[in-house]
Amino acid sequence: MPSTVTMFRRAALLTCPRCGSRRTFIKHWLGRYERCRTCGIAWHREHGFELGPIALNVVITFASLAVGMTVAFVATAPNFPAVALTLGMVAAAIVIPLLAYPFTFTLWLAFDLASHKPEQRELEEAAAAIAAKSFQGA
Ligand SMILES: [Zn+2]
Repeated sequence: MPSTVTMFRRAALLTCPRCGSRRTFIKHWLGRYERCRTCGIAWHREHGFELGPIALNVVITFASLAVGMTVAFVATAPNFPAVALTLGMVAAAIVIPLLAYPFTFTLWLAFDLASHKPEQRELEEAAAAIAAKSFQGA
């Protein structure tokens, strides 16, 4: 397994944290294959895995909104354009989670792989899935 720093760097670039390939489990911006198409590691490593990326997406969105609101308030004080700020924050609250969506899955997989190393059985399943190519919808 690569180092934790390497896995997070790969995840931040939307590549597979394990193998570094761009042919990862990301099918399109909002869709995923069952496994990385290069190394075969499954992104859904355990029941409820999706909660991690969802929580990470919420944290990224709320942190971005907090920074955005703080900068906007400081930049426009003392005459706050309330309507413009509200509309801007609502738009950001819709756009930021969509932009962050695939990154939250690769980042959470990096976190999960770093904190919970794959067992031999999982690695054998990954290798078998790559050999069979049964998960790519082809
Ligand atoms: Zn991979």
